[in-house]
Amino acid sequence: MKLDIVSIFPEYFAPLEISLLGKARRAGLLDVAVHDLRQWAHDRHRTVDDTPYGGGPGMVMKPEPWGEALDAIAPGPELPRLVVPTPSGRPFTQATAAELAGEPWLLFACGRYEGIDARVVADASTRMRVDEVSLGDFVLAGGEVAVLVMVEAIGRLLPGVLGNAESVADDSFAPGSMESLLEGPVYTKPPVWRDRAVPDVLLSGHHGAIARWRRDEALRRTARHRPELLARLAAGGLDARDRAV
Ligand code: SAM
Repeated sequence: MKLDIVSIFPEYFAPLEISLLGKARRAGLLDVAVHDLRQWAHDRHRTVDDTPYGGGPGMVMKPEPWGEALDAIAPGPELPRLVVPTPSGRPFTQATAAELAGEPWLLFACGRYEGIDARVVADASTRMRVDEVSLGDFVLAGGEVAVLVMVEAIGRLLPGVLGNAESVADDSFAPGSMESLLEGPVYTKPPVWRDRAVPDVLLSGHHGAIARWRRDEALRRTARHRPELLARLAAGGLDARDRAV
């Protein structure tokens, strides 16, 4: 997968050199290019922002550098899917990550200040697919951290990136039986630590009982932390034993 990222702080993306994604890059599974937006700003100070029309506090990112950046990175005929992080976008979920992981080329546009002049998305939408996505109901200082989060969520779904692809299937929100569930507690050795024992069932070797226990715990945790997810599951995803938990 090819990833282009445009930002006024390219140094934010140093973490993409390490851990899982760094390994994926070195293995040729992920081809990442980070671009400094200011190379497409032509005045002496390389200005990328200006005061908002209509007044009000803060600054808005100018359309010209963004327009030039997108034209230079994606001149066509092949075009990427443009992903624009913004608190006013549709929610970024595991399903969004899975959908984007199926794309050959993604281009991320990191906003700063009060955001990017709205004509940039309107213009880009005439020639490429554009997704305005939000990480949640809070406001970050810029799109860089949001893009790091999305790249990690998408990257770990690419074939060959995770050592054990099956671990993705058991994750919270994974398509299938975990779609609307949070994963329950996990344990490793030793079997007793500070007088706290690992639940017996996990040491039993009984795969059916372990699977049932994991589902029960997932249901309990979801009910406790995210009851609205459980309500969605109740539409048809509960068996008789689930209802008893
Ligand atoms: N004025 C904007 C608003 O209220 O919707 C907030 C702009 S925010 C200070 C600057 C940039 O941070 C945004 O353009 C976006 O790139 C990023 N950002 C902030 N919160 C975000 C969120 N919840 N999800 C995705 N991106 C976010």
